[in-house]
Amino acid sequence: MKVPYTMPGKVYLVGAGPGSAKLLTLEALQLLQRVDMVLHDDLVSHEVLGRISPRVAVHNVGKRCGEKKTTQEDINRRMIEAAKAGLFVVRLKSGDPLIFGRTQEEIEALREEGIPFEIVPGITAASAAAAQAQIPLTERRVASKLVFVSNHPGAEKPRSWHESVTNDTTLVFYMPGNDFAELLEELRRRHVSEDTPCLLVSRVSQENQKMLKITLRQLAAISPAPAPSLLIIGEAAASAQGCEKLQTAIAEKGKREEILLLDDPERKRISAV
Ligand code: SAH
Repeated sequence: MKVPYTMPGKVYLVGAGPGSAKLLTLEALQLLQRVDMVLHDDLVSHEVLGRISPRVAVHNVGKRCGEKKTTQEDINRRMIEAAKAGLFVVRLKSGDPLIFGRTQEEIEALREEGIPFEIVPGITAASAAAAQAQIPLTERRVASKLVFVSNHPGAEKPRSWHESVTNDTTLVFYMPGNDFAELLEELRRRHVSEDTPCLLVSRVSQENQKMLKITLRQLAAISPAPAPSLLIIGEAAASAQGCEKLQTAIAEKGKREEILLLDDPERKRISAV
């Protein structure tokens, strides 16, 4: 009896960049036009999804997709099943797939099943934010070290990012969260000056991008930026351009919750109506 033979498909682990379709690589764009299936994360922008050919099957496998939680195991299984059925699959992740993208778990699963795969890098949020603000992430006079930190709460391992902080470090916090108090405390303990520039960038490269330049001291007083956002701390951020002024940001927040009195020596907040 003849056993039907299906040519194995292939999986492409692809970076979608930070949002603007202009920041897709040529290879990513070509794959989005040519493959059979795209499995994408929540953070991949509508603009990028709009570049997928209409004949491609598109599935959101974001871990918070709707009510349903898609687990990493589900994602691995779907990629593997599709490739075994002979399909060409793009696994599309925001930014660069190898930066805070849980890609290693997918690589291991694919290797274990002998599925051919390729990785297509993307522009990570930090690079896009630095480009928008026209700042270097490293600078030979003030920033000889660049540290990418995940500030995601509940990480399995104890966090030790502060151990690598010196005053010539540019620190980039991915998933900076809503509460900067702990982060500030760690930096104070490392004797990082409270005048150190900070750049908070929201939805970089997207239509509603927002950038705010403040100092470490002011960080405690601001409200969380709309997600996804990225926090860059270090002297390299000193010359950031195109940012909102603190008053504007606080006033906008004030519409909803509270206003920070900038000239208040005790940095008190008052409630807004
Ligand atoms: N692989 C991605 C990071 C995924 S982790 C990359 O290389 O960019 C998710 C975090 O990335 C978000 O919480 C946020 O900190 C950051 N991020 C992703 N897209 C962003 C965007 N358009 N603007 C600002 N931050 C972004």
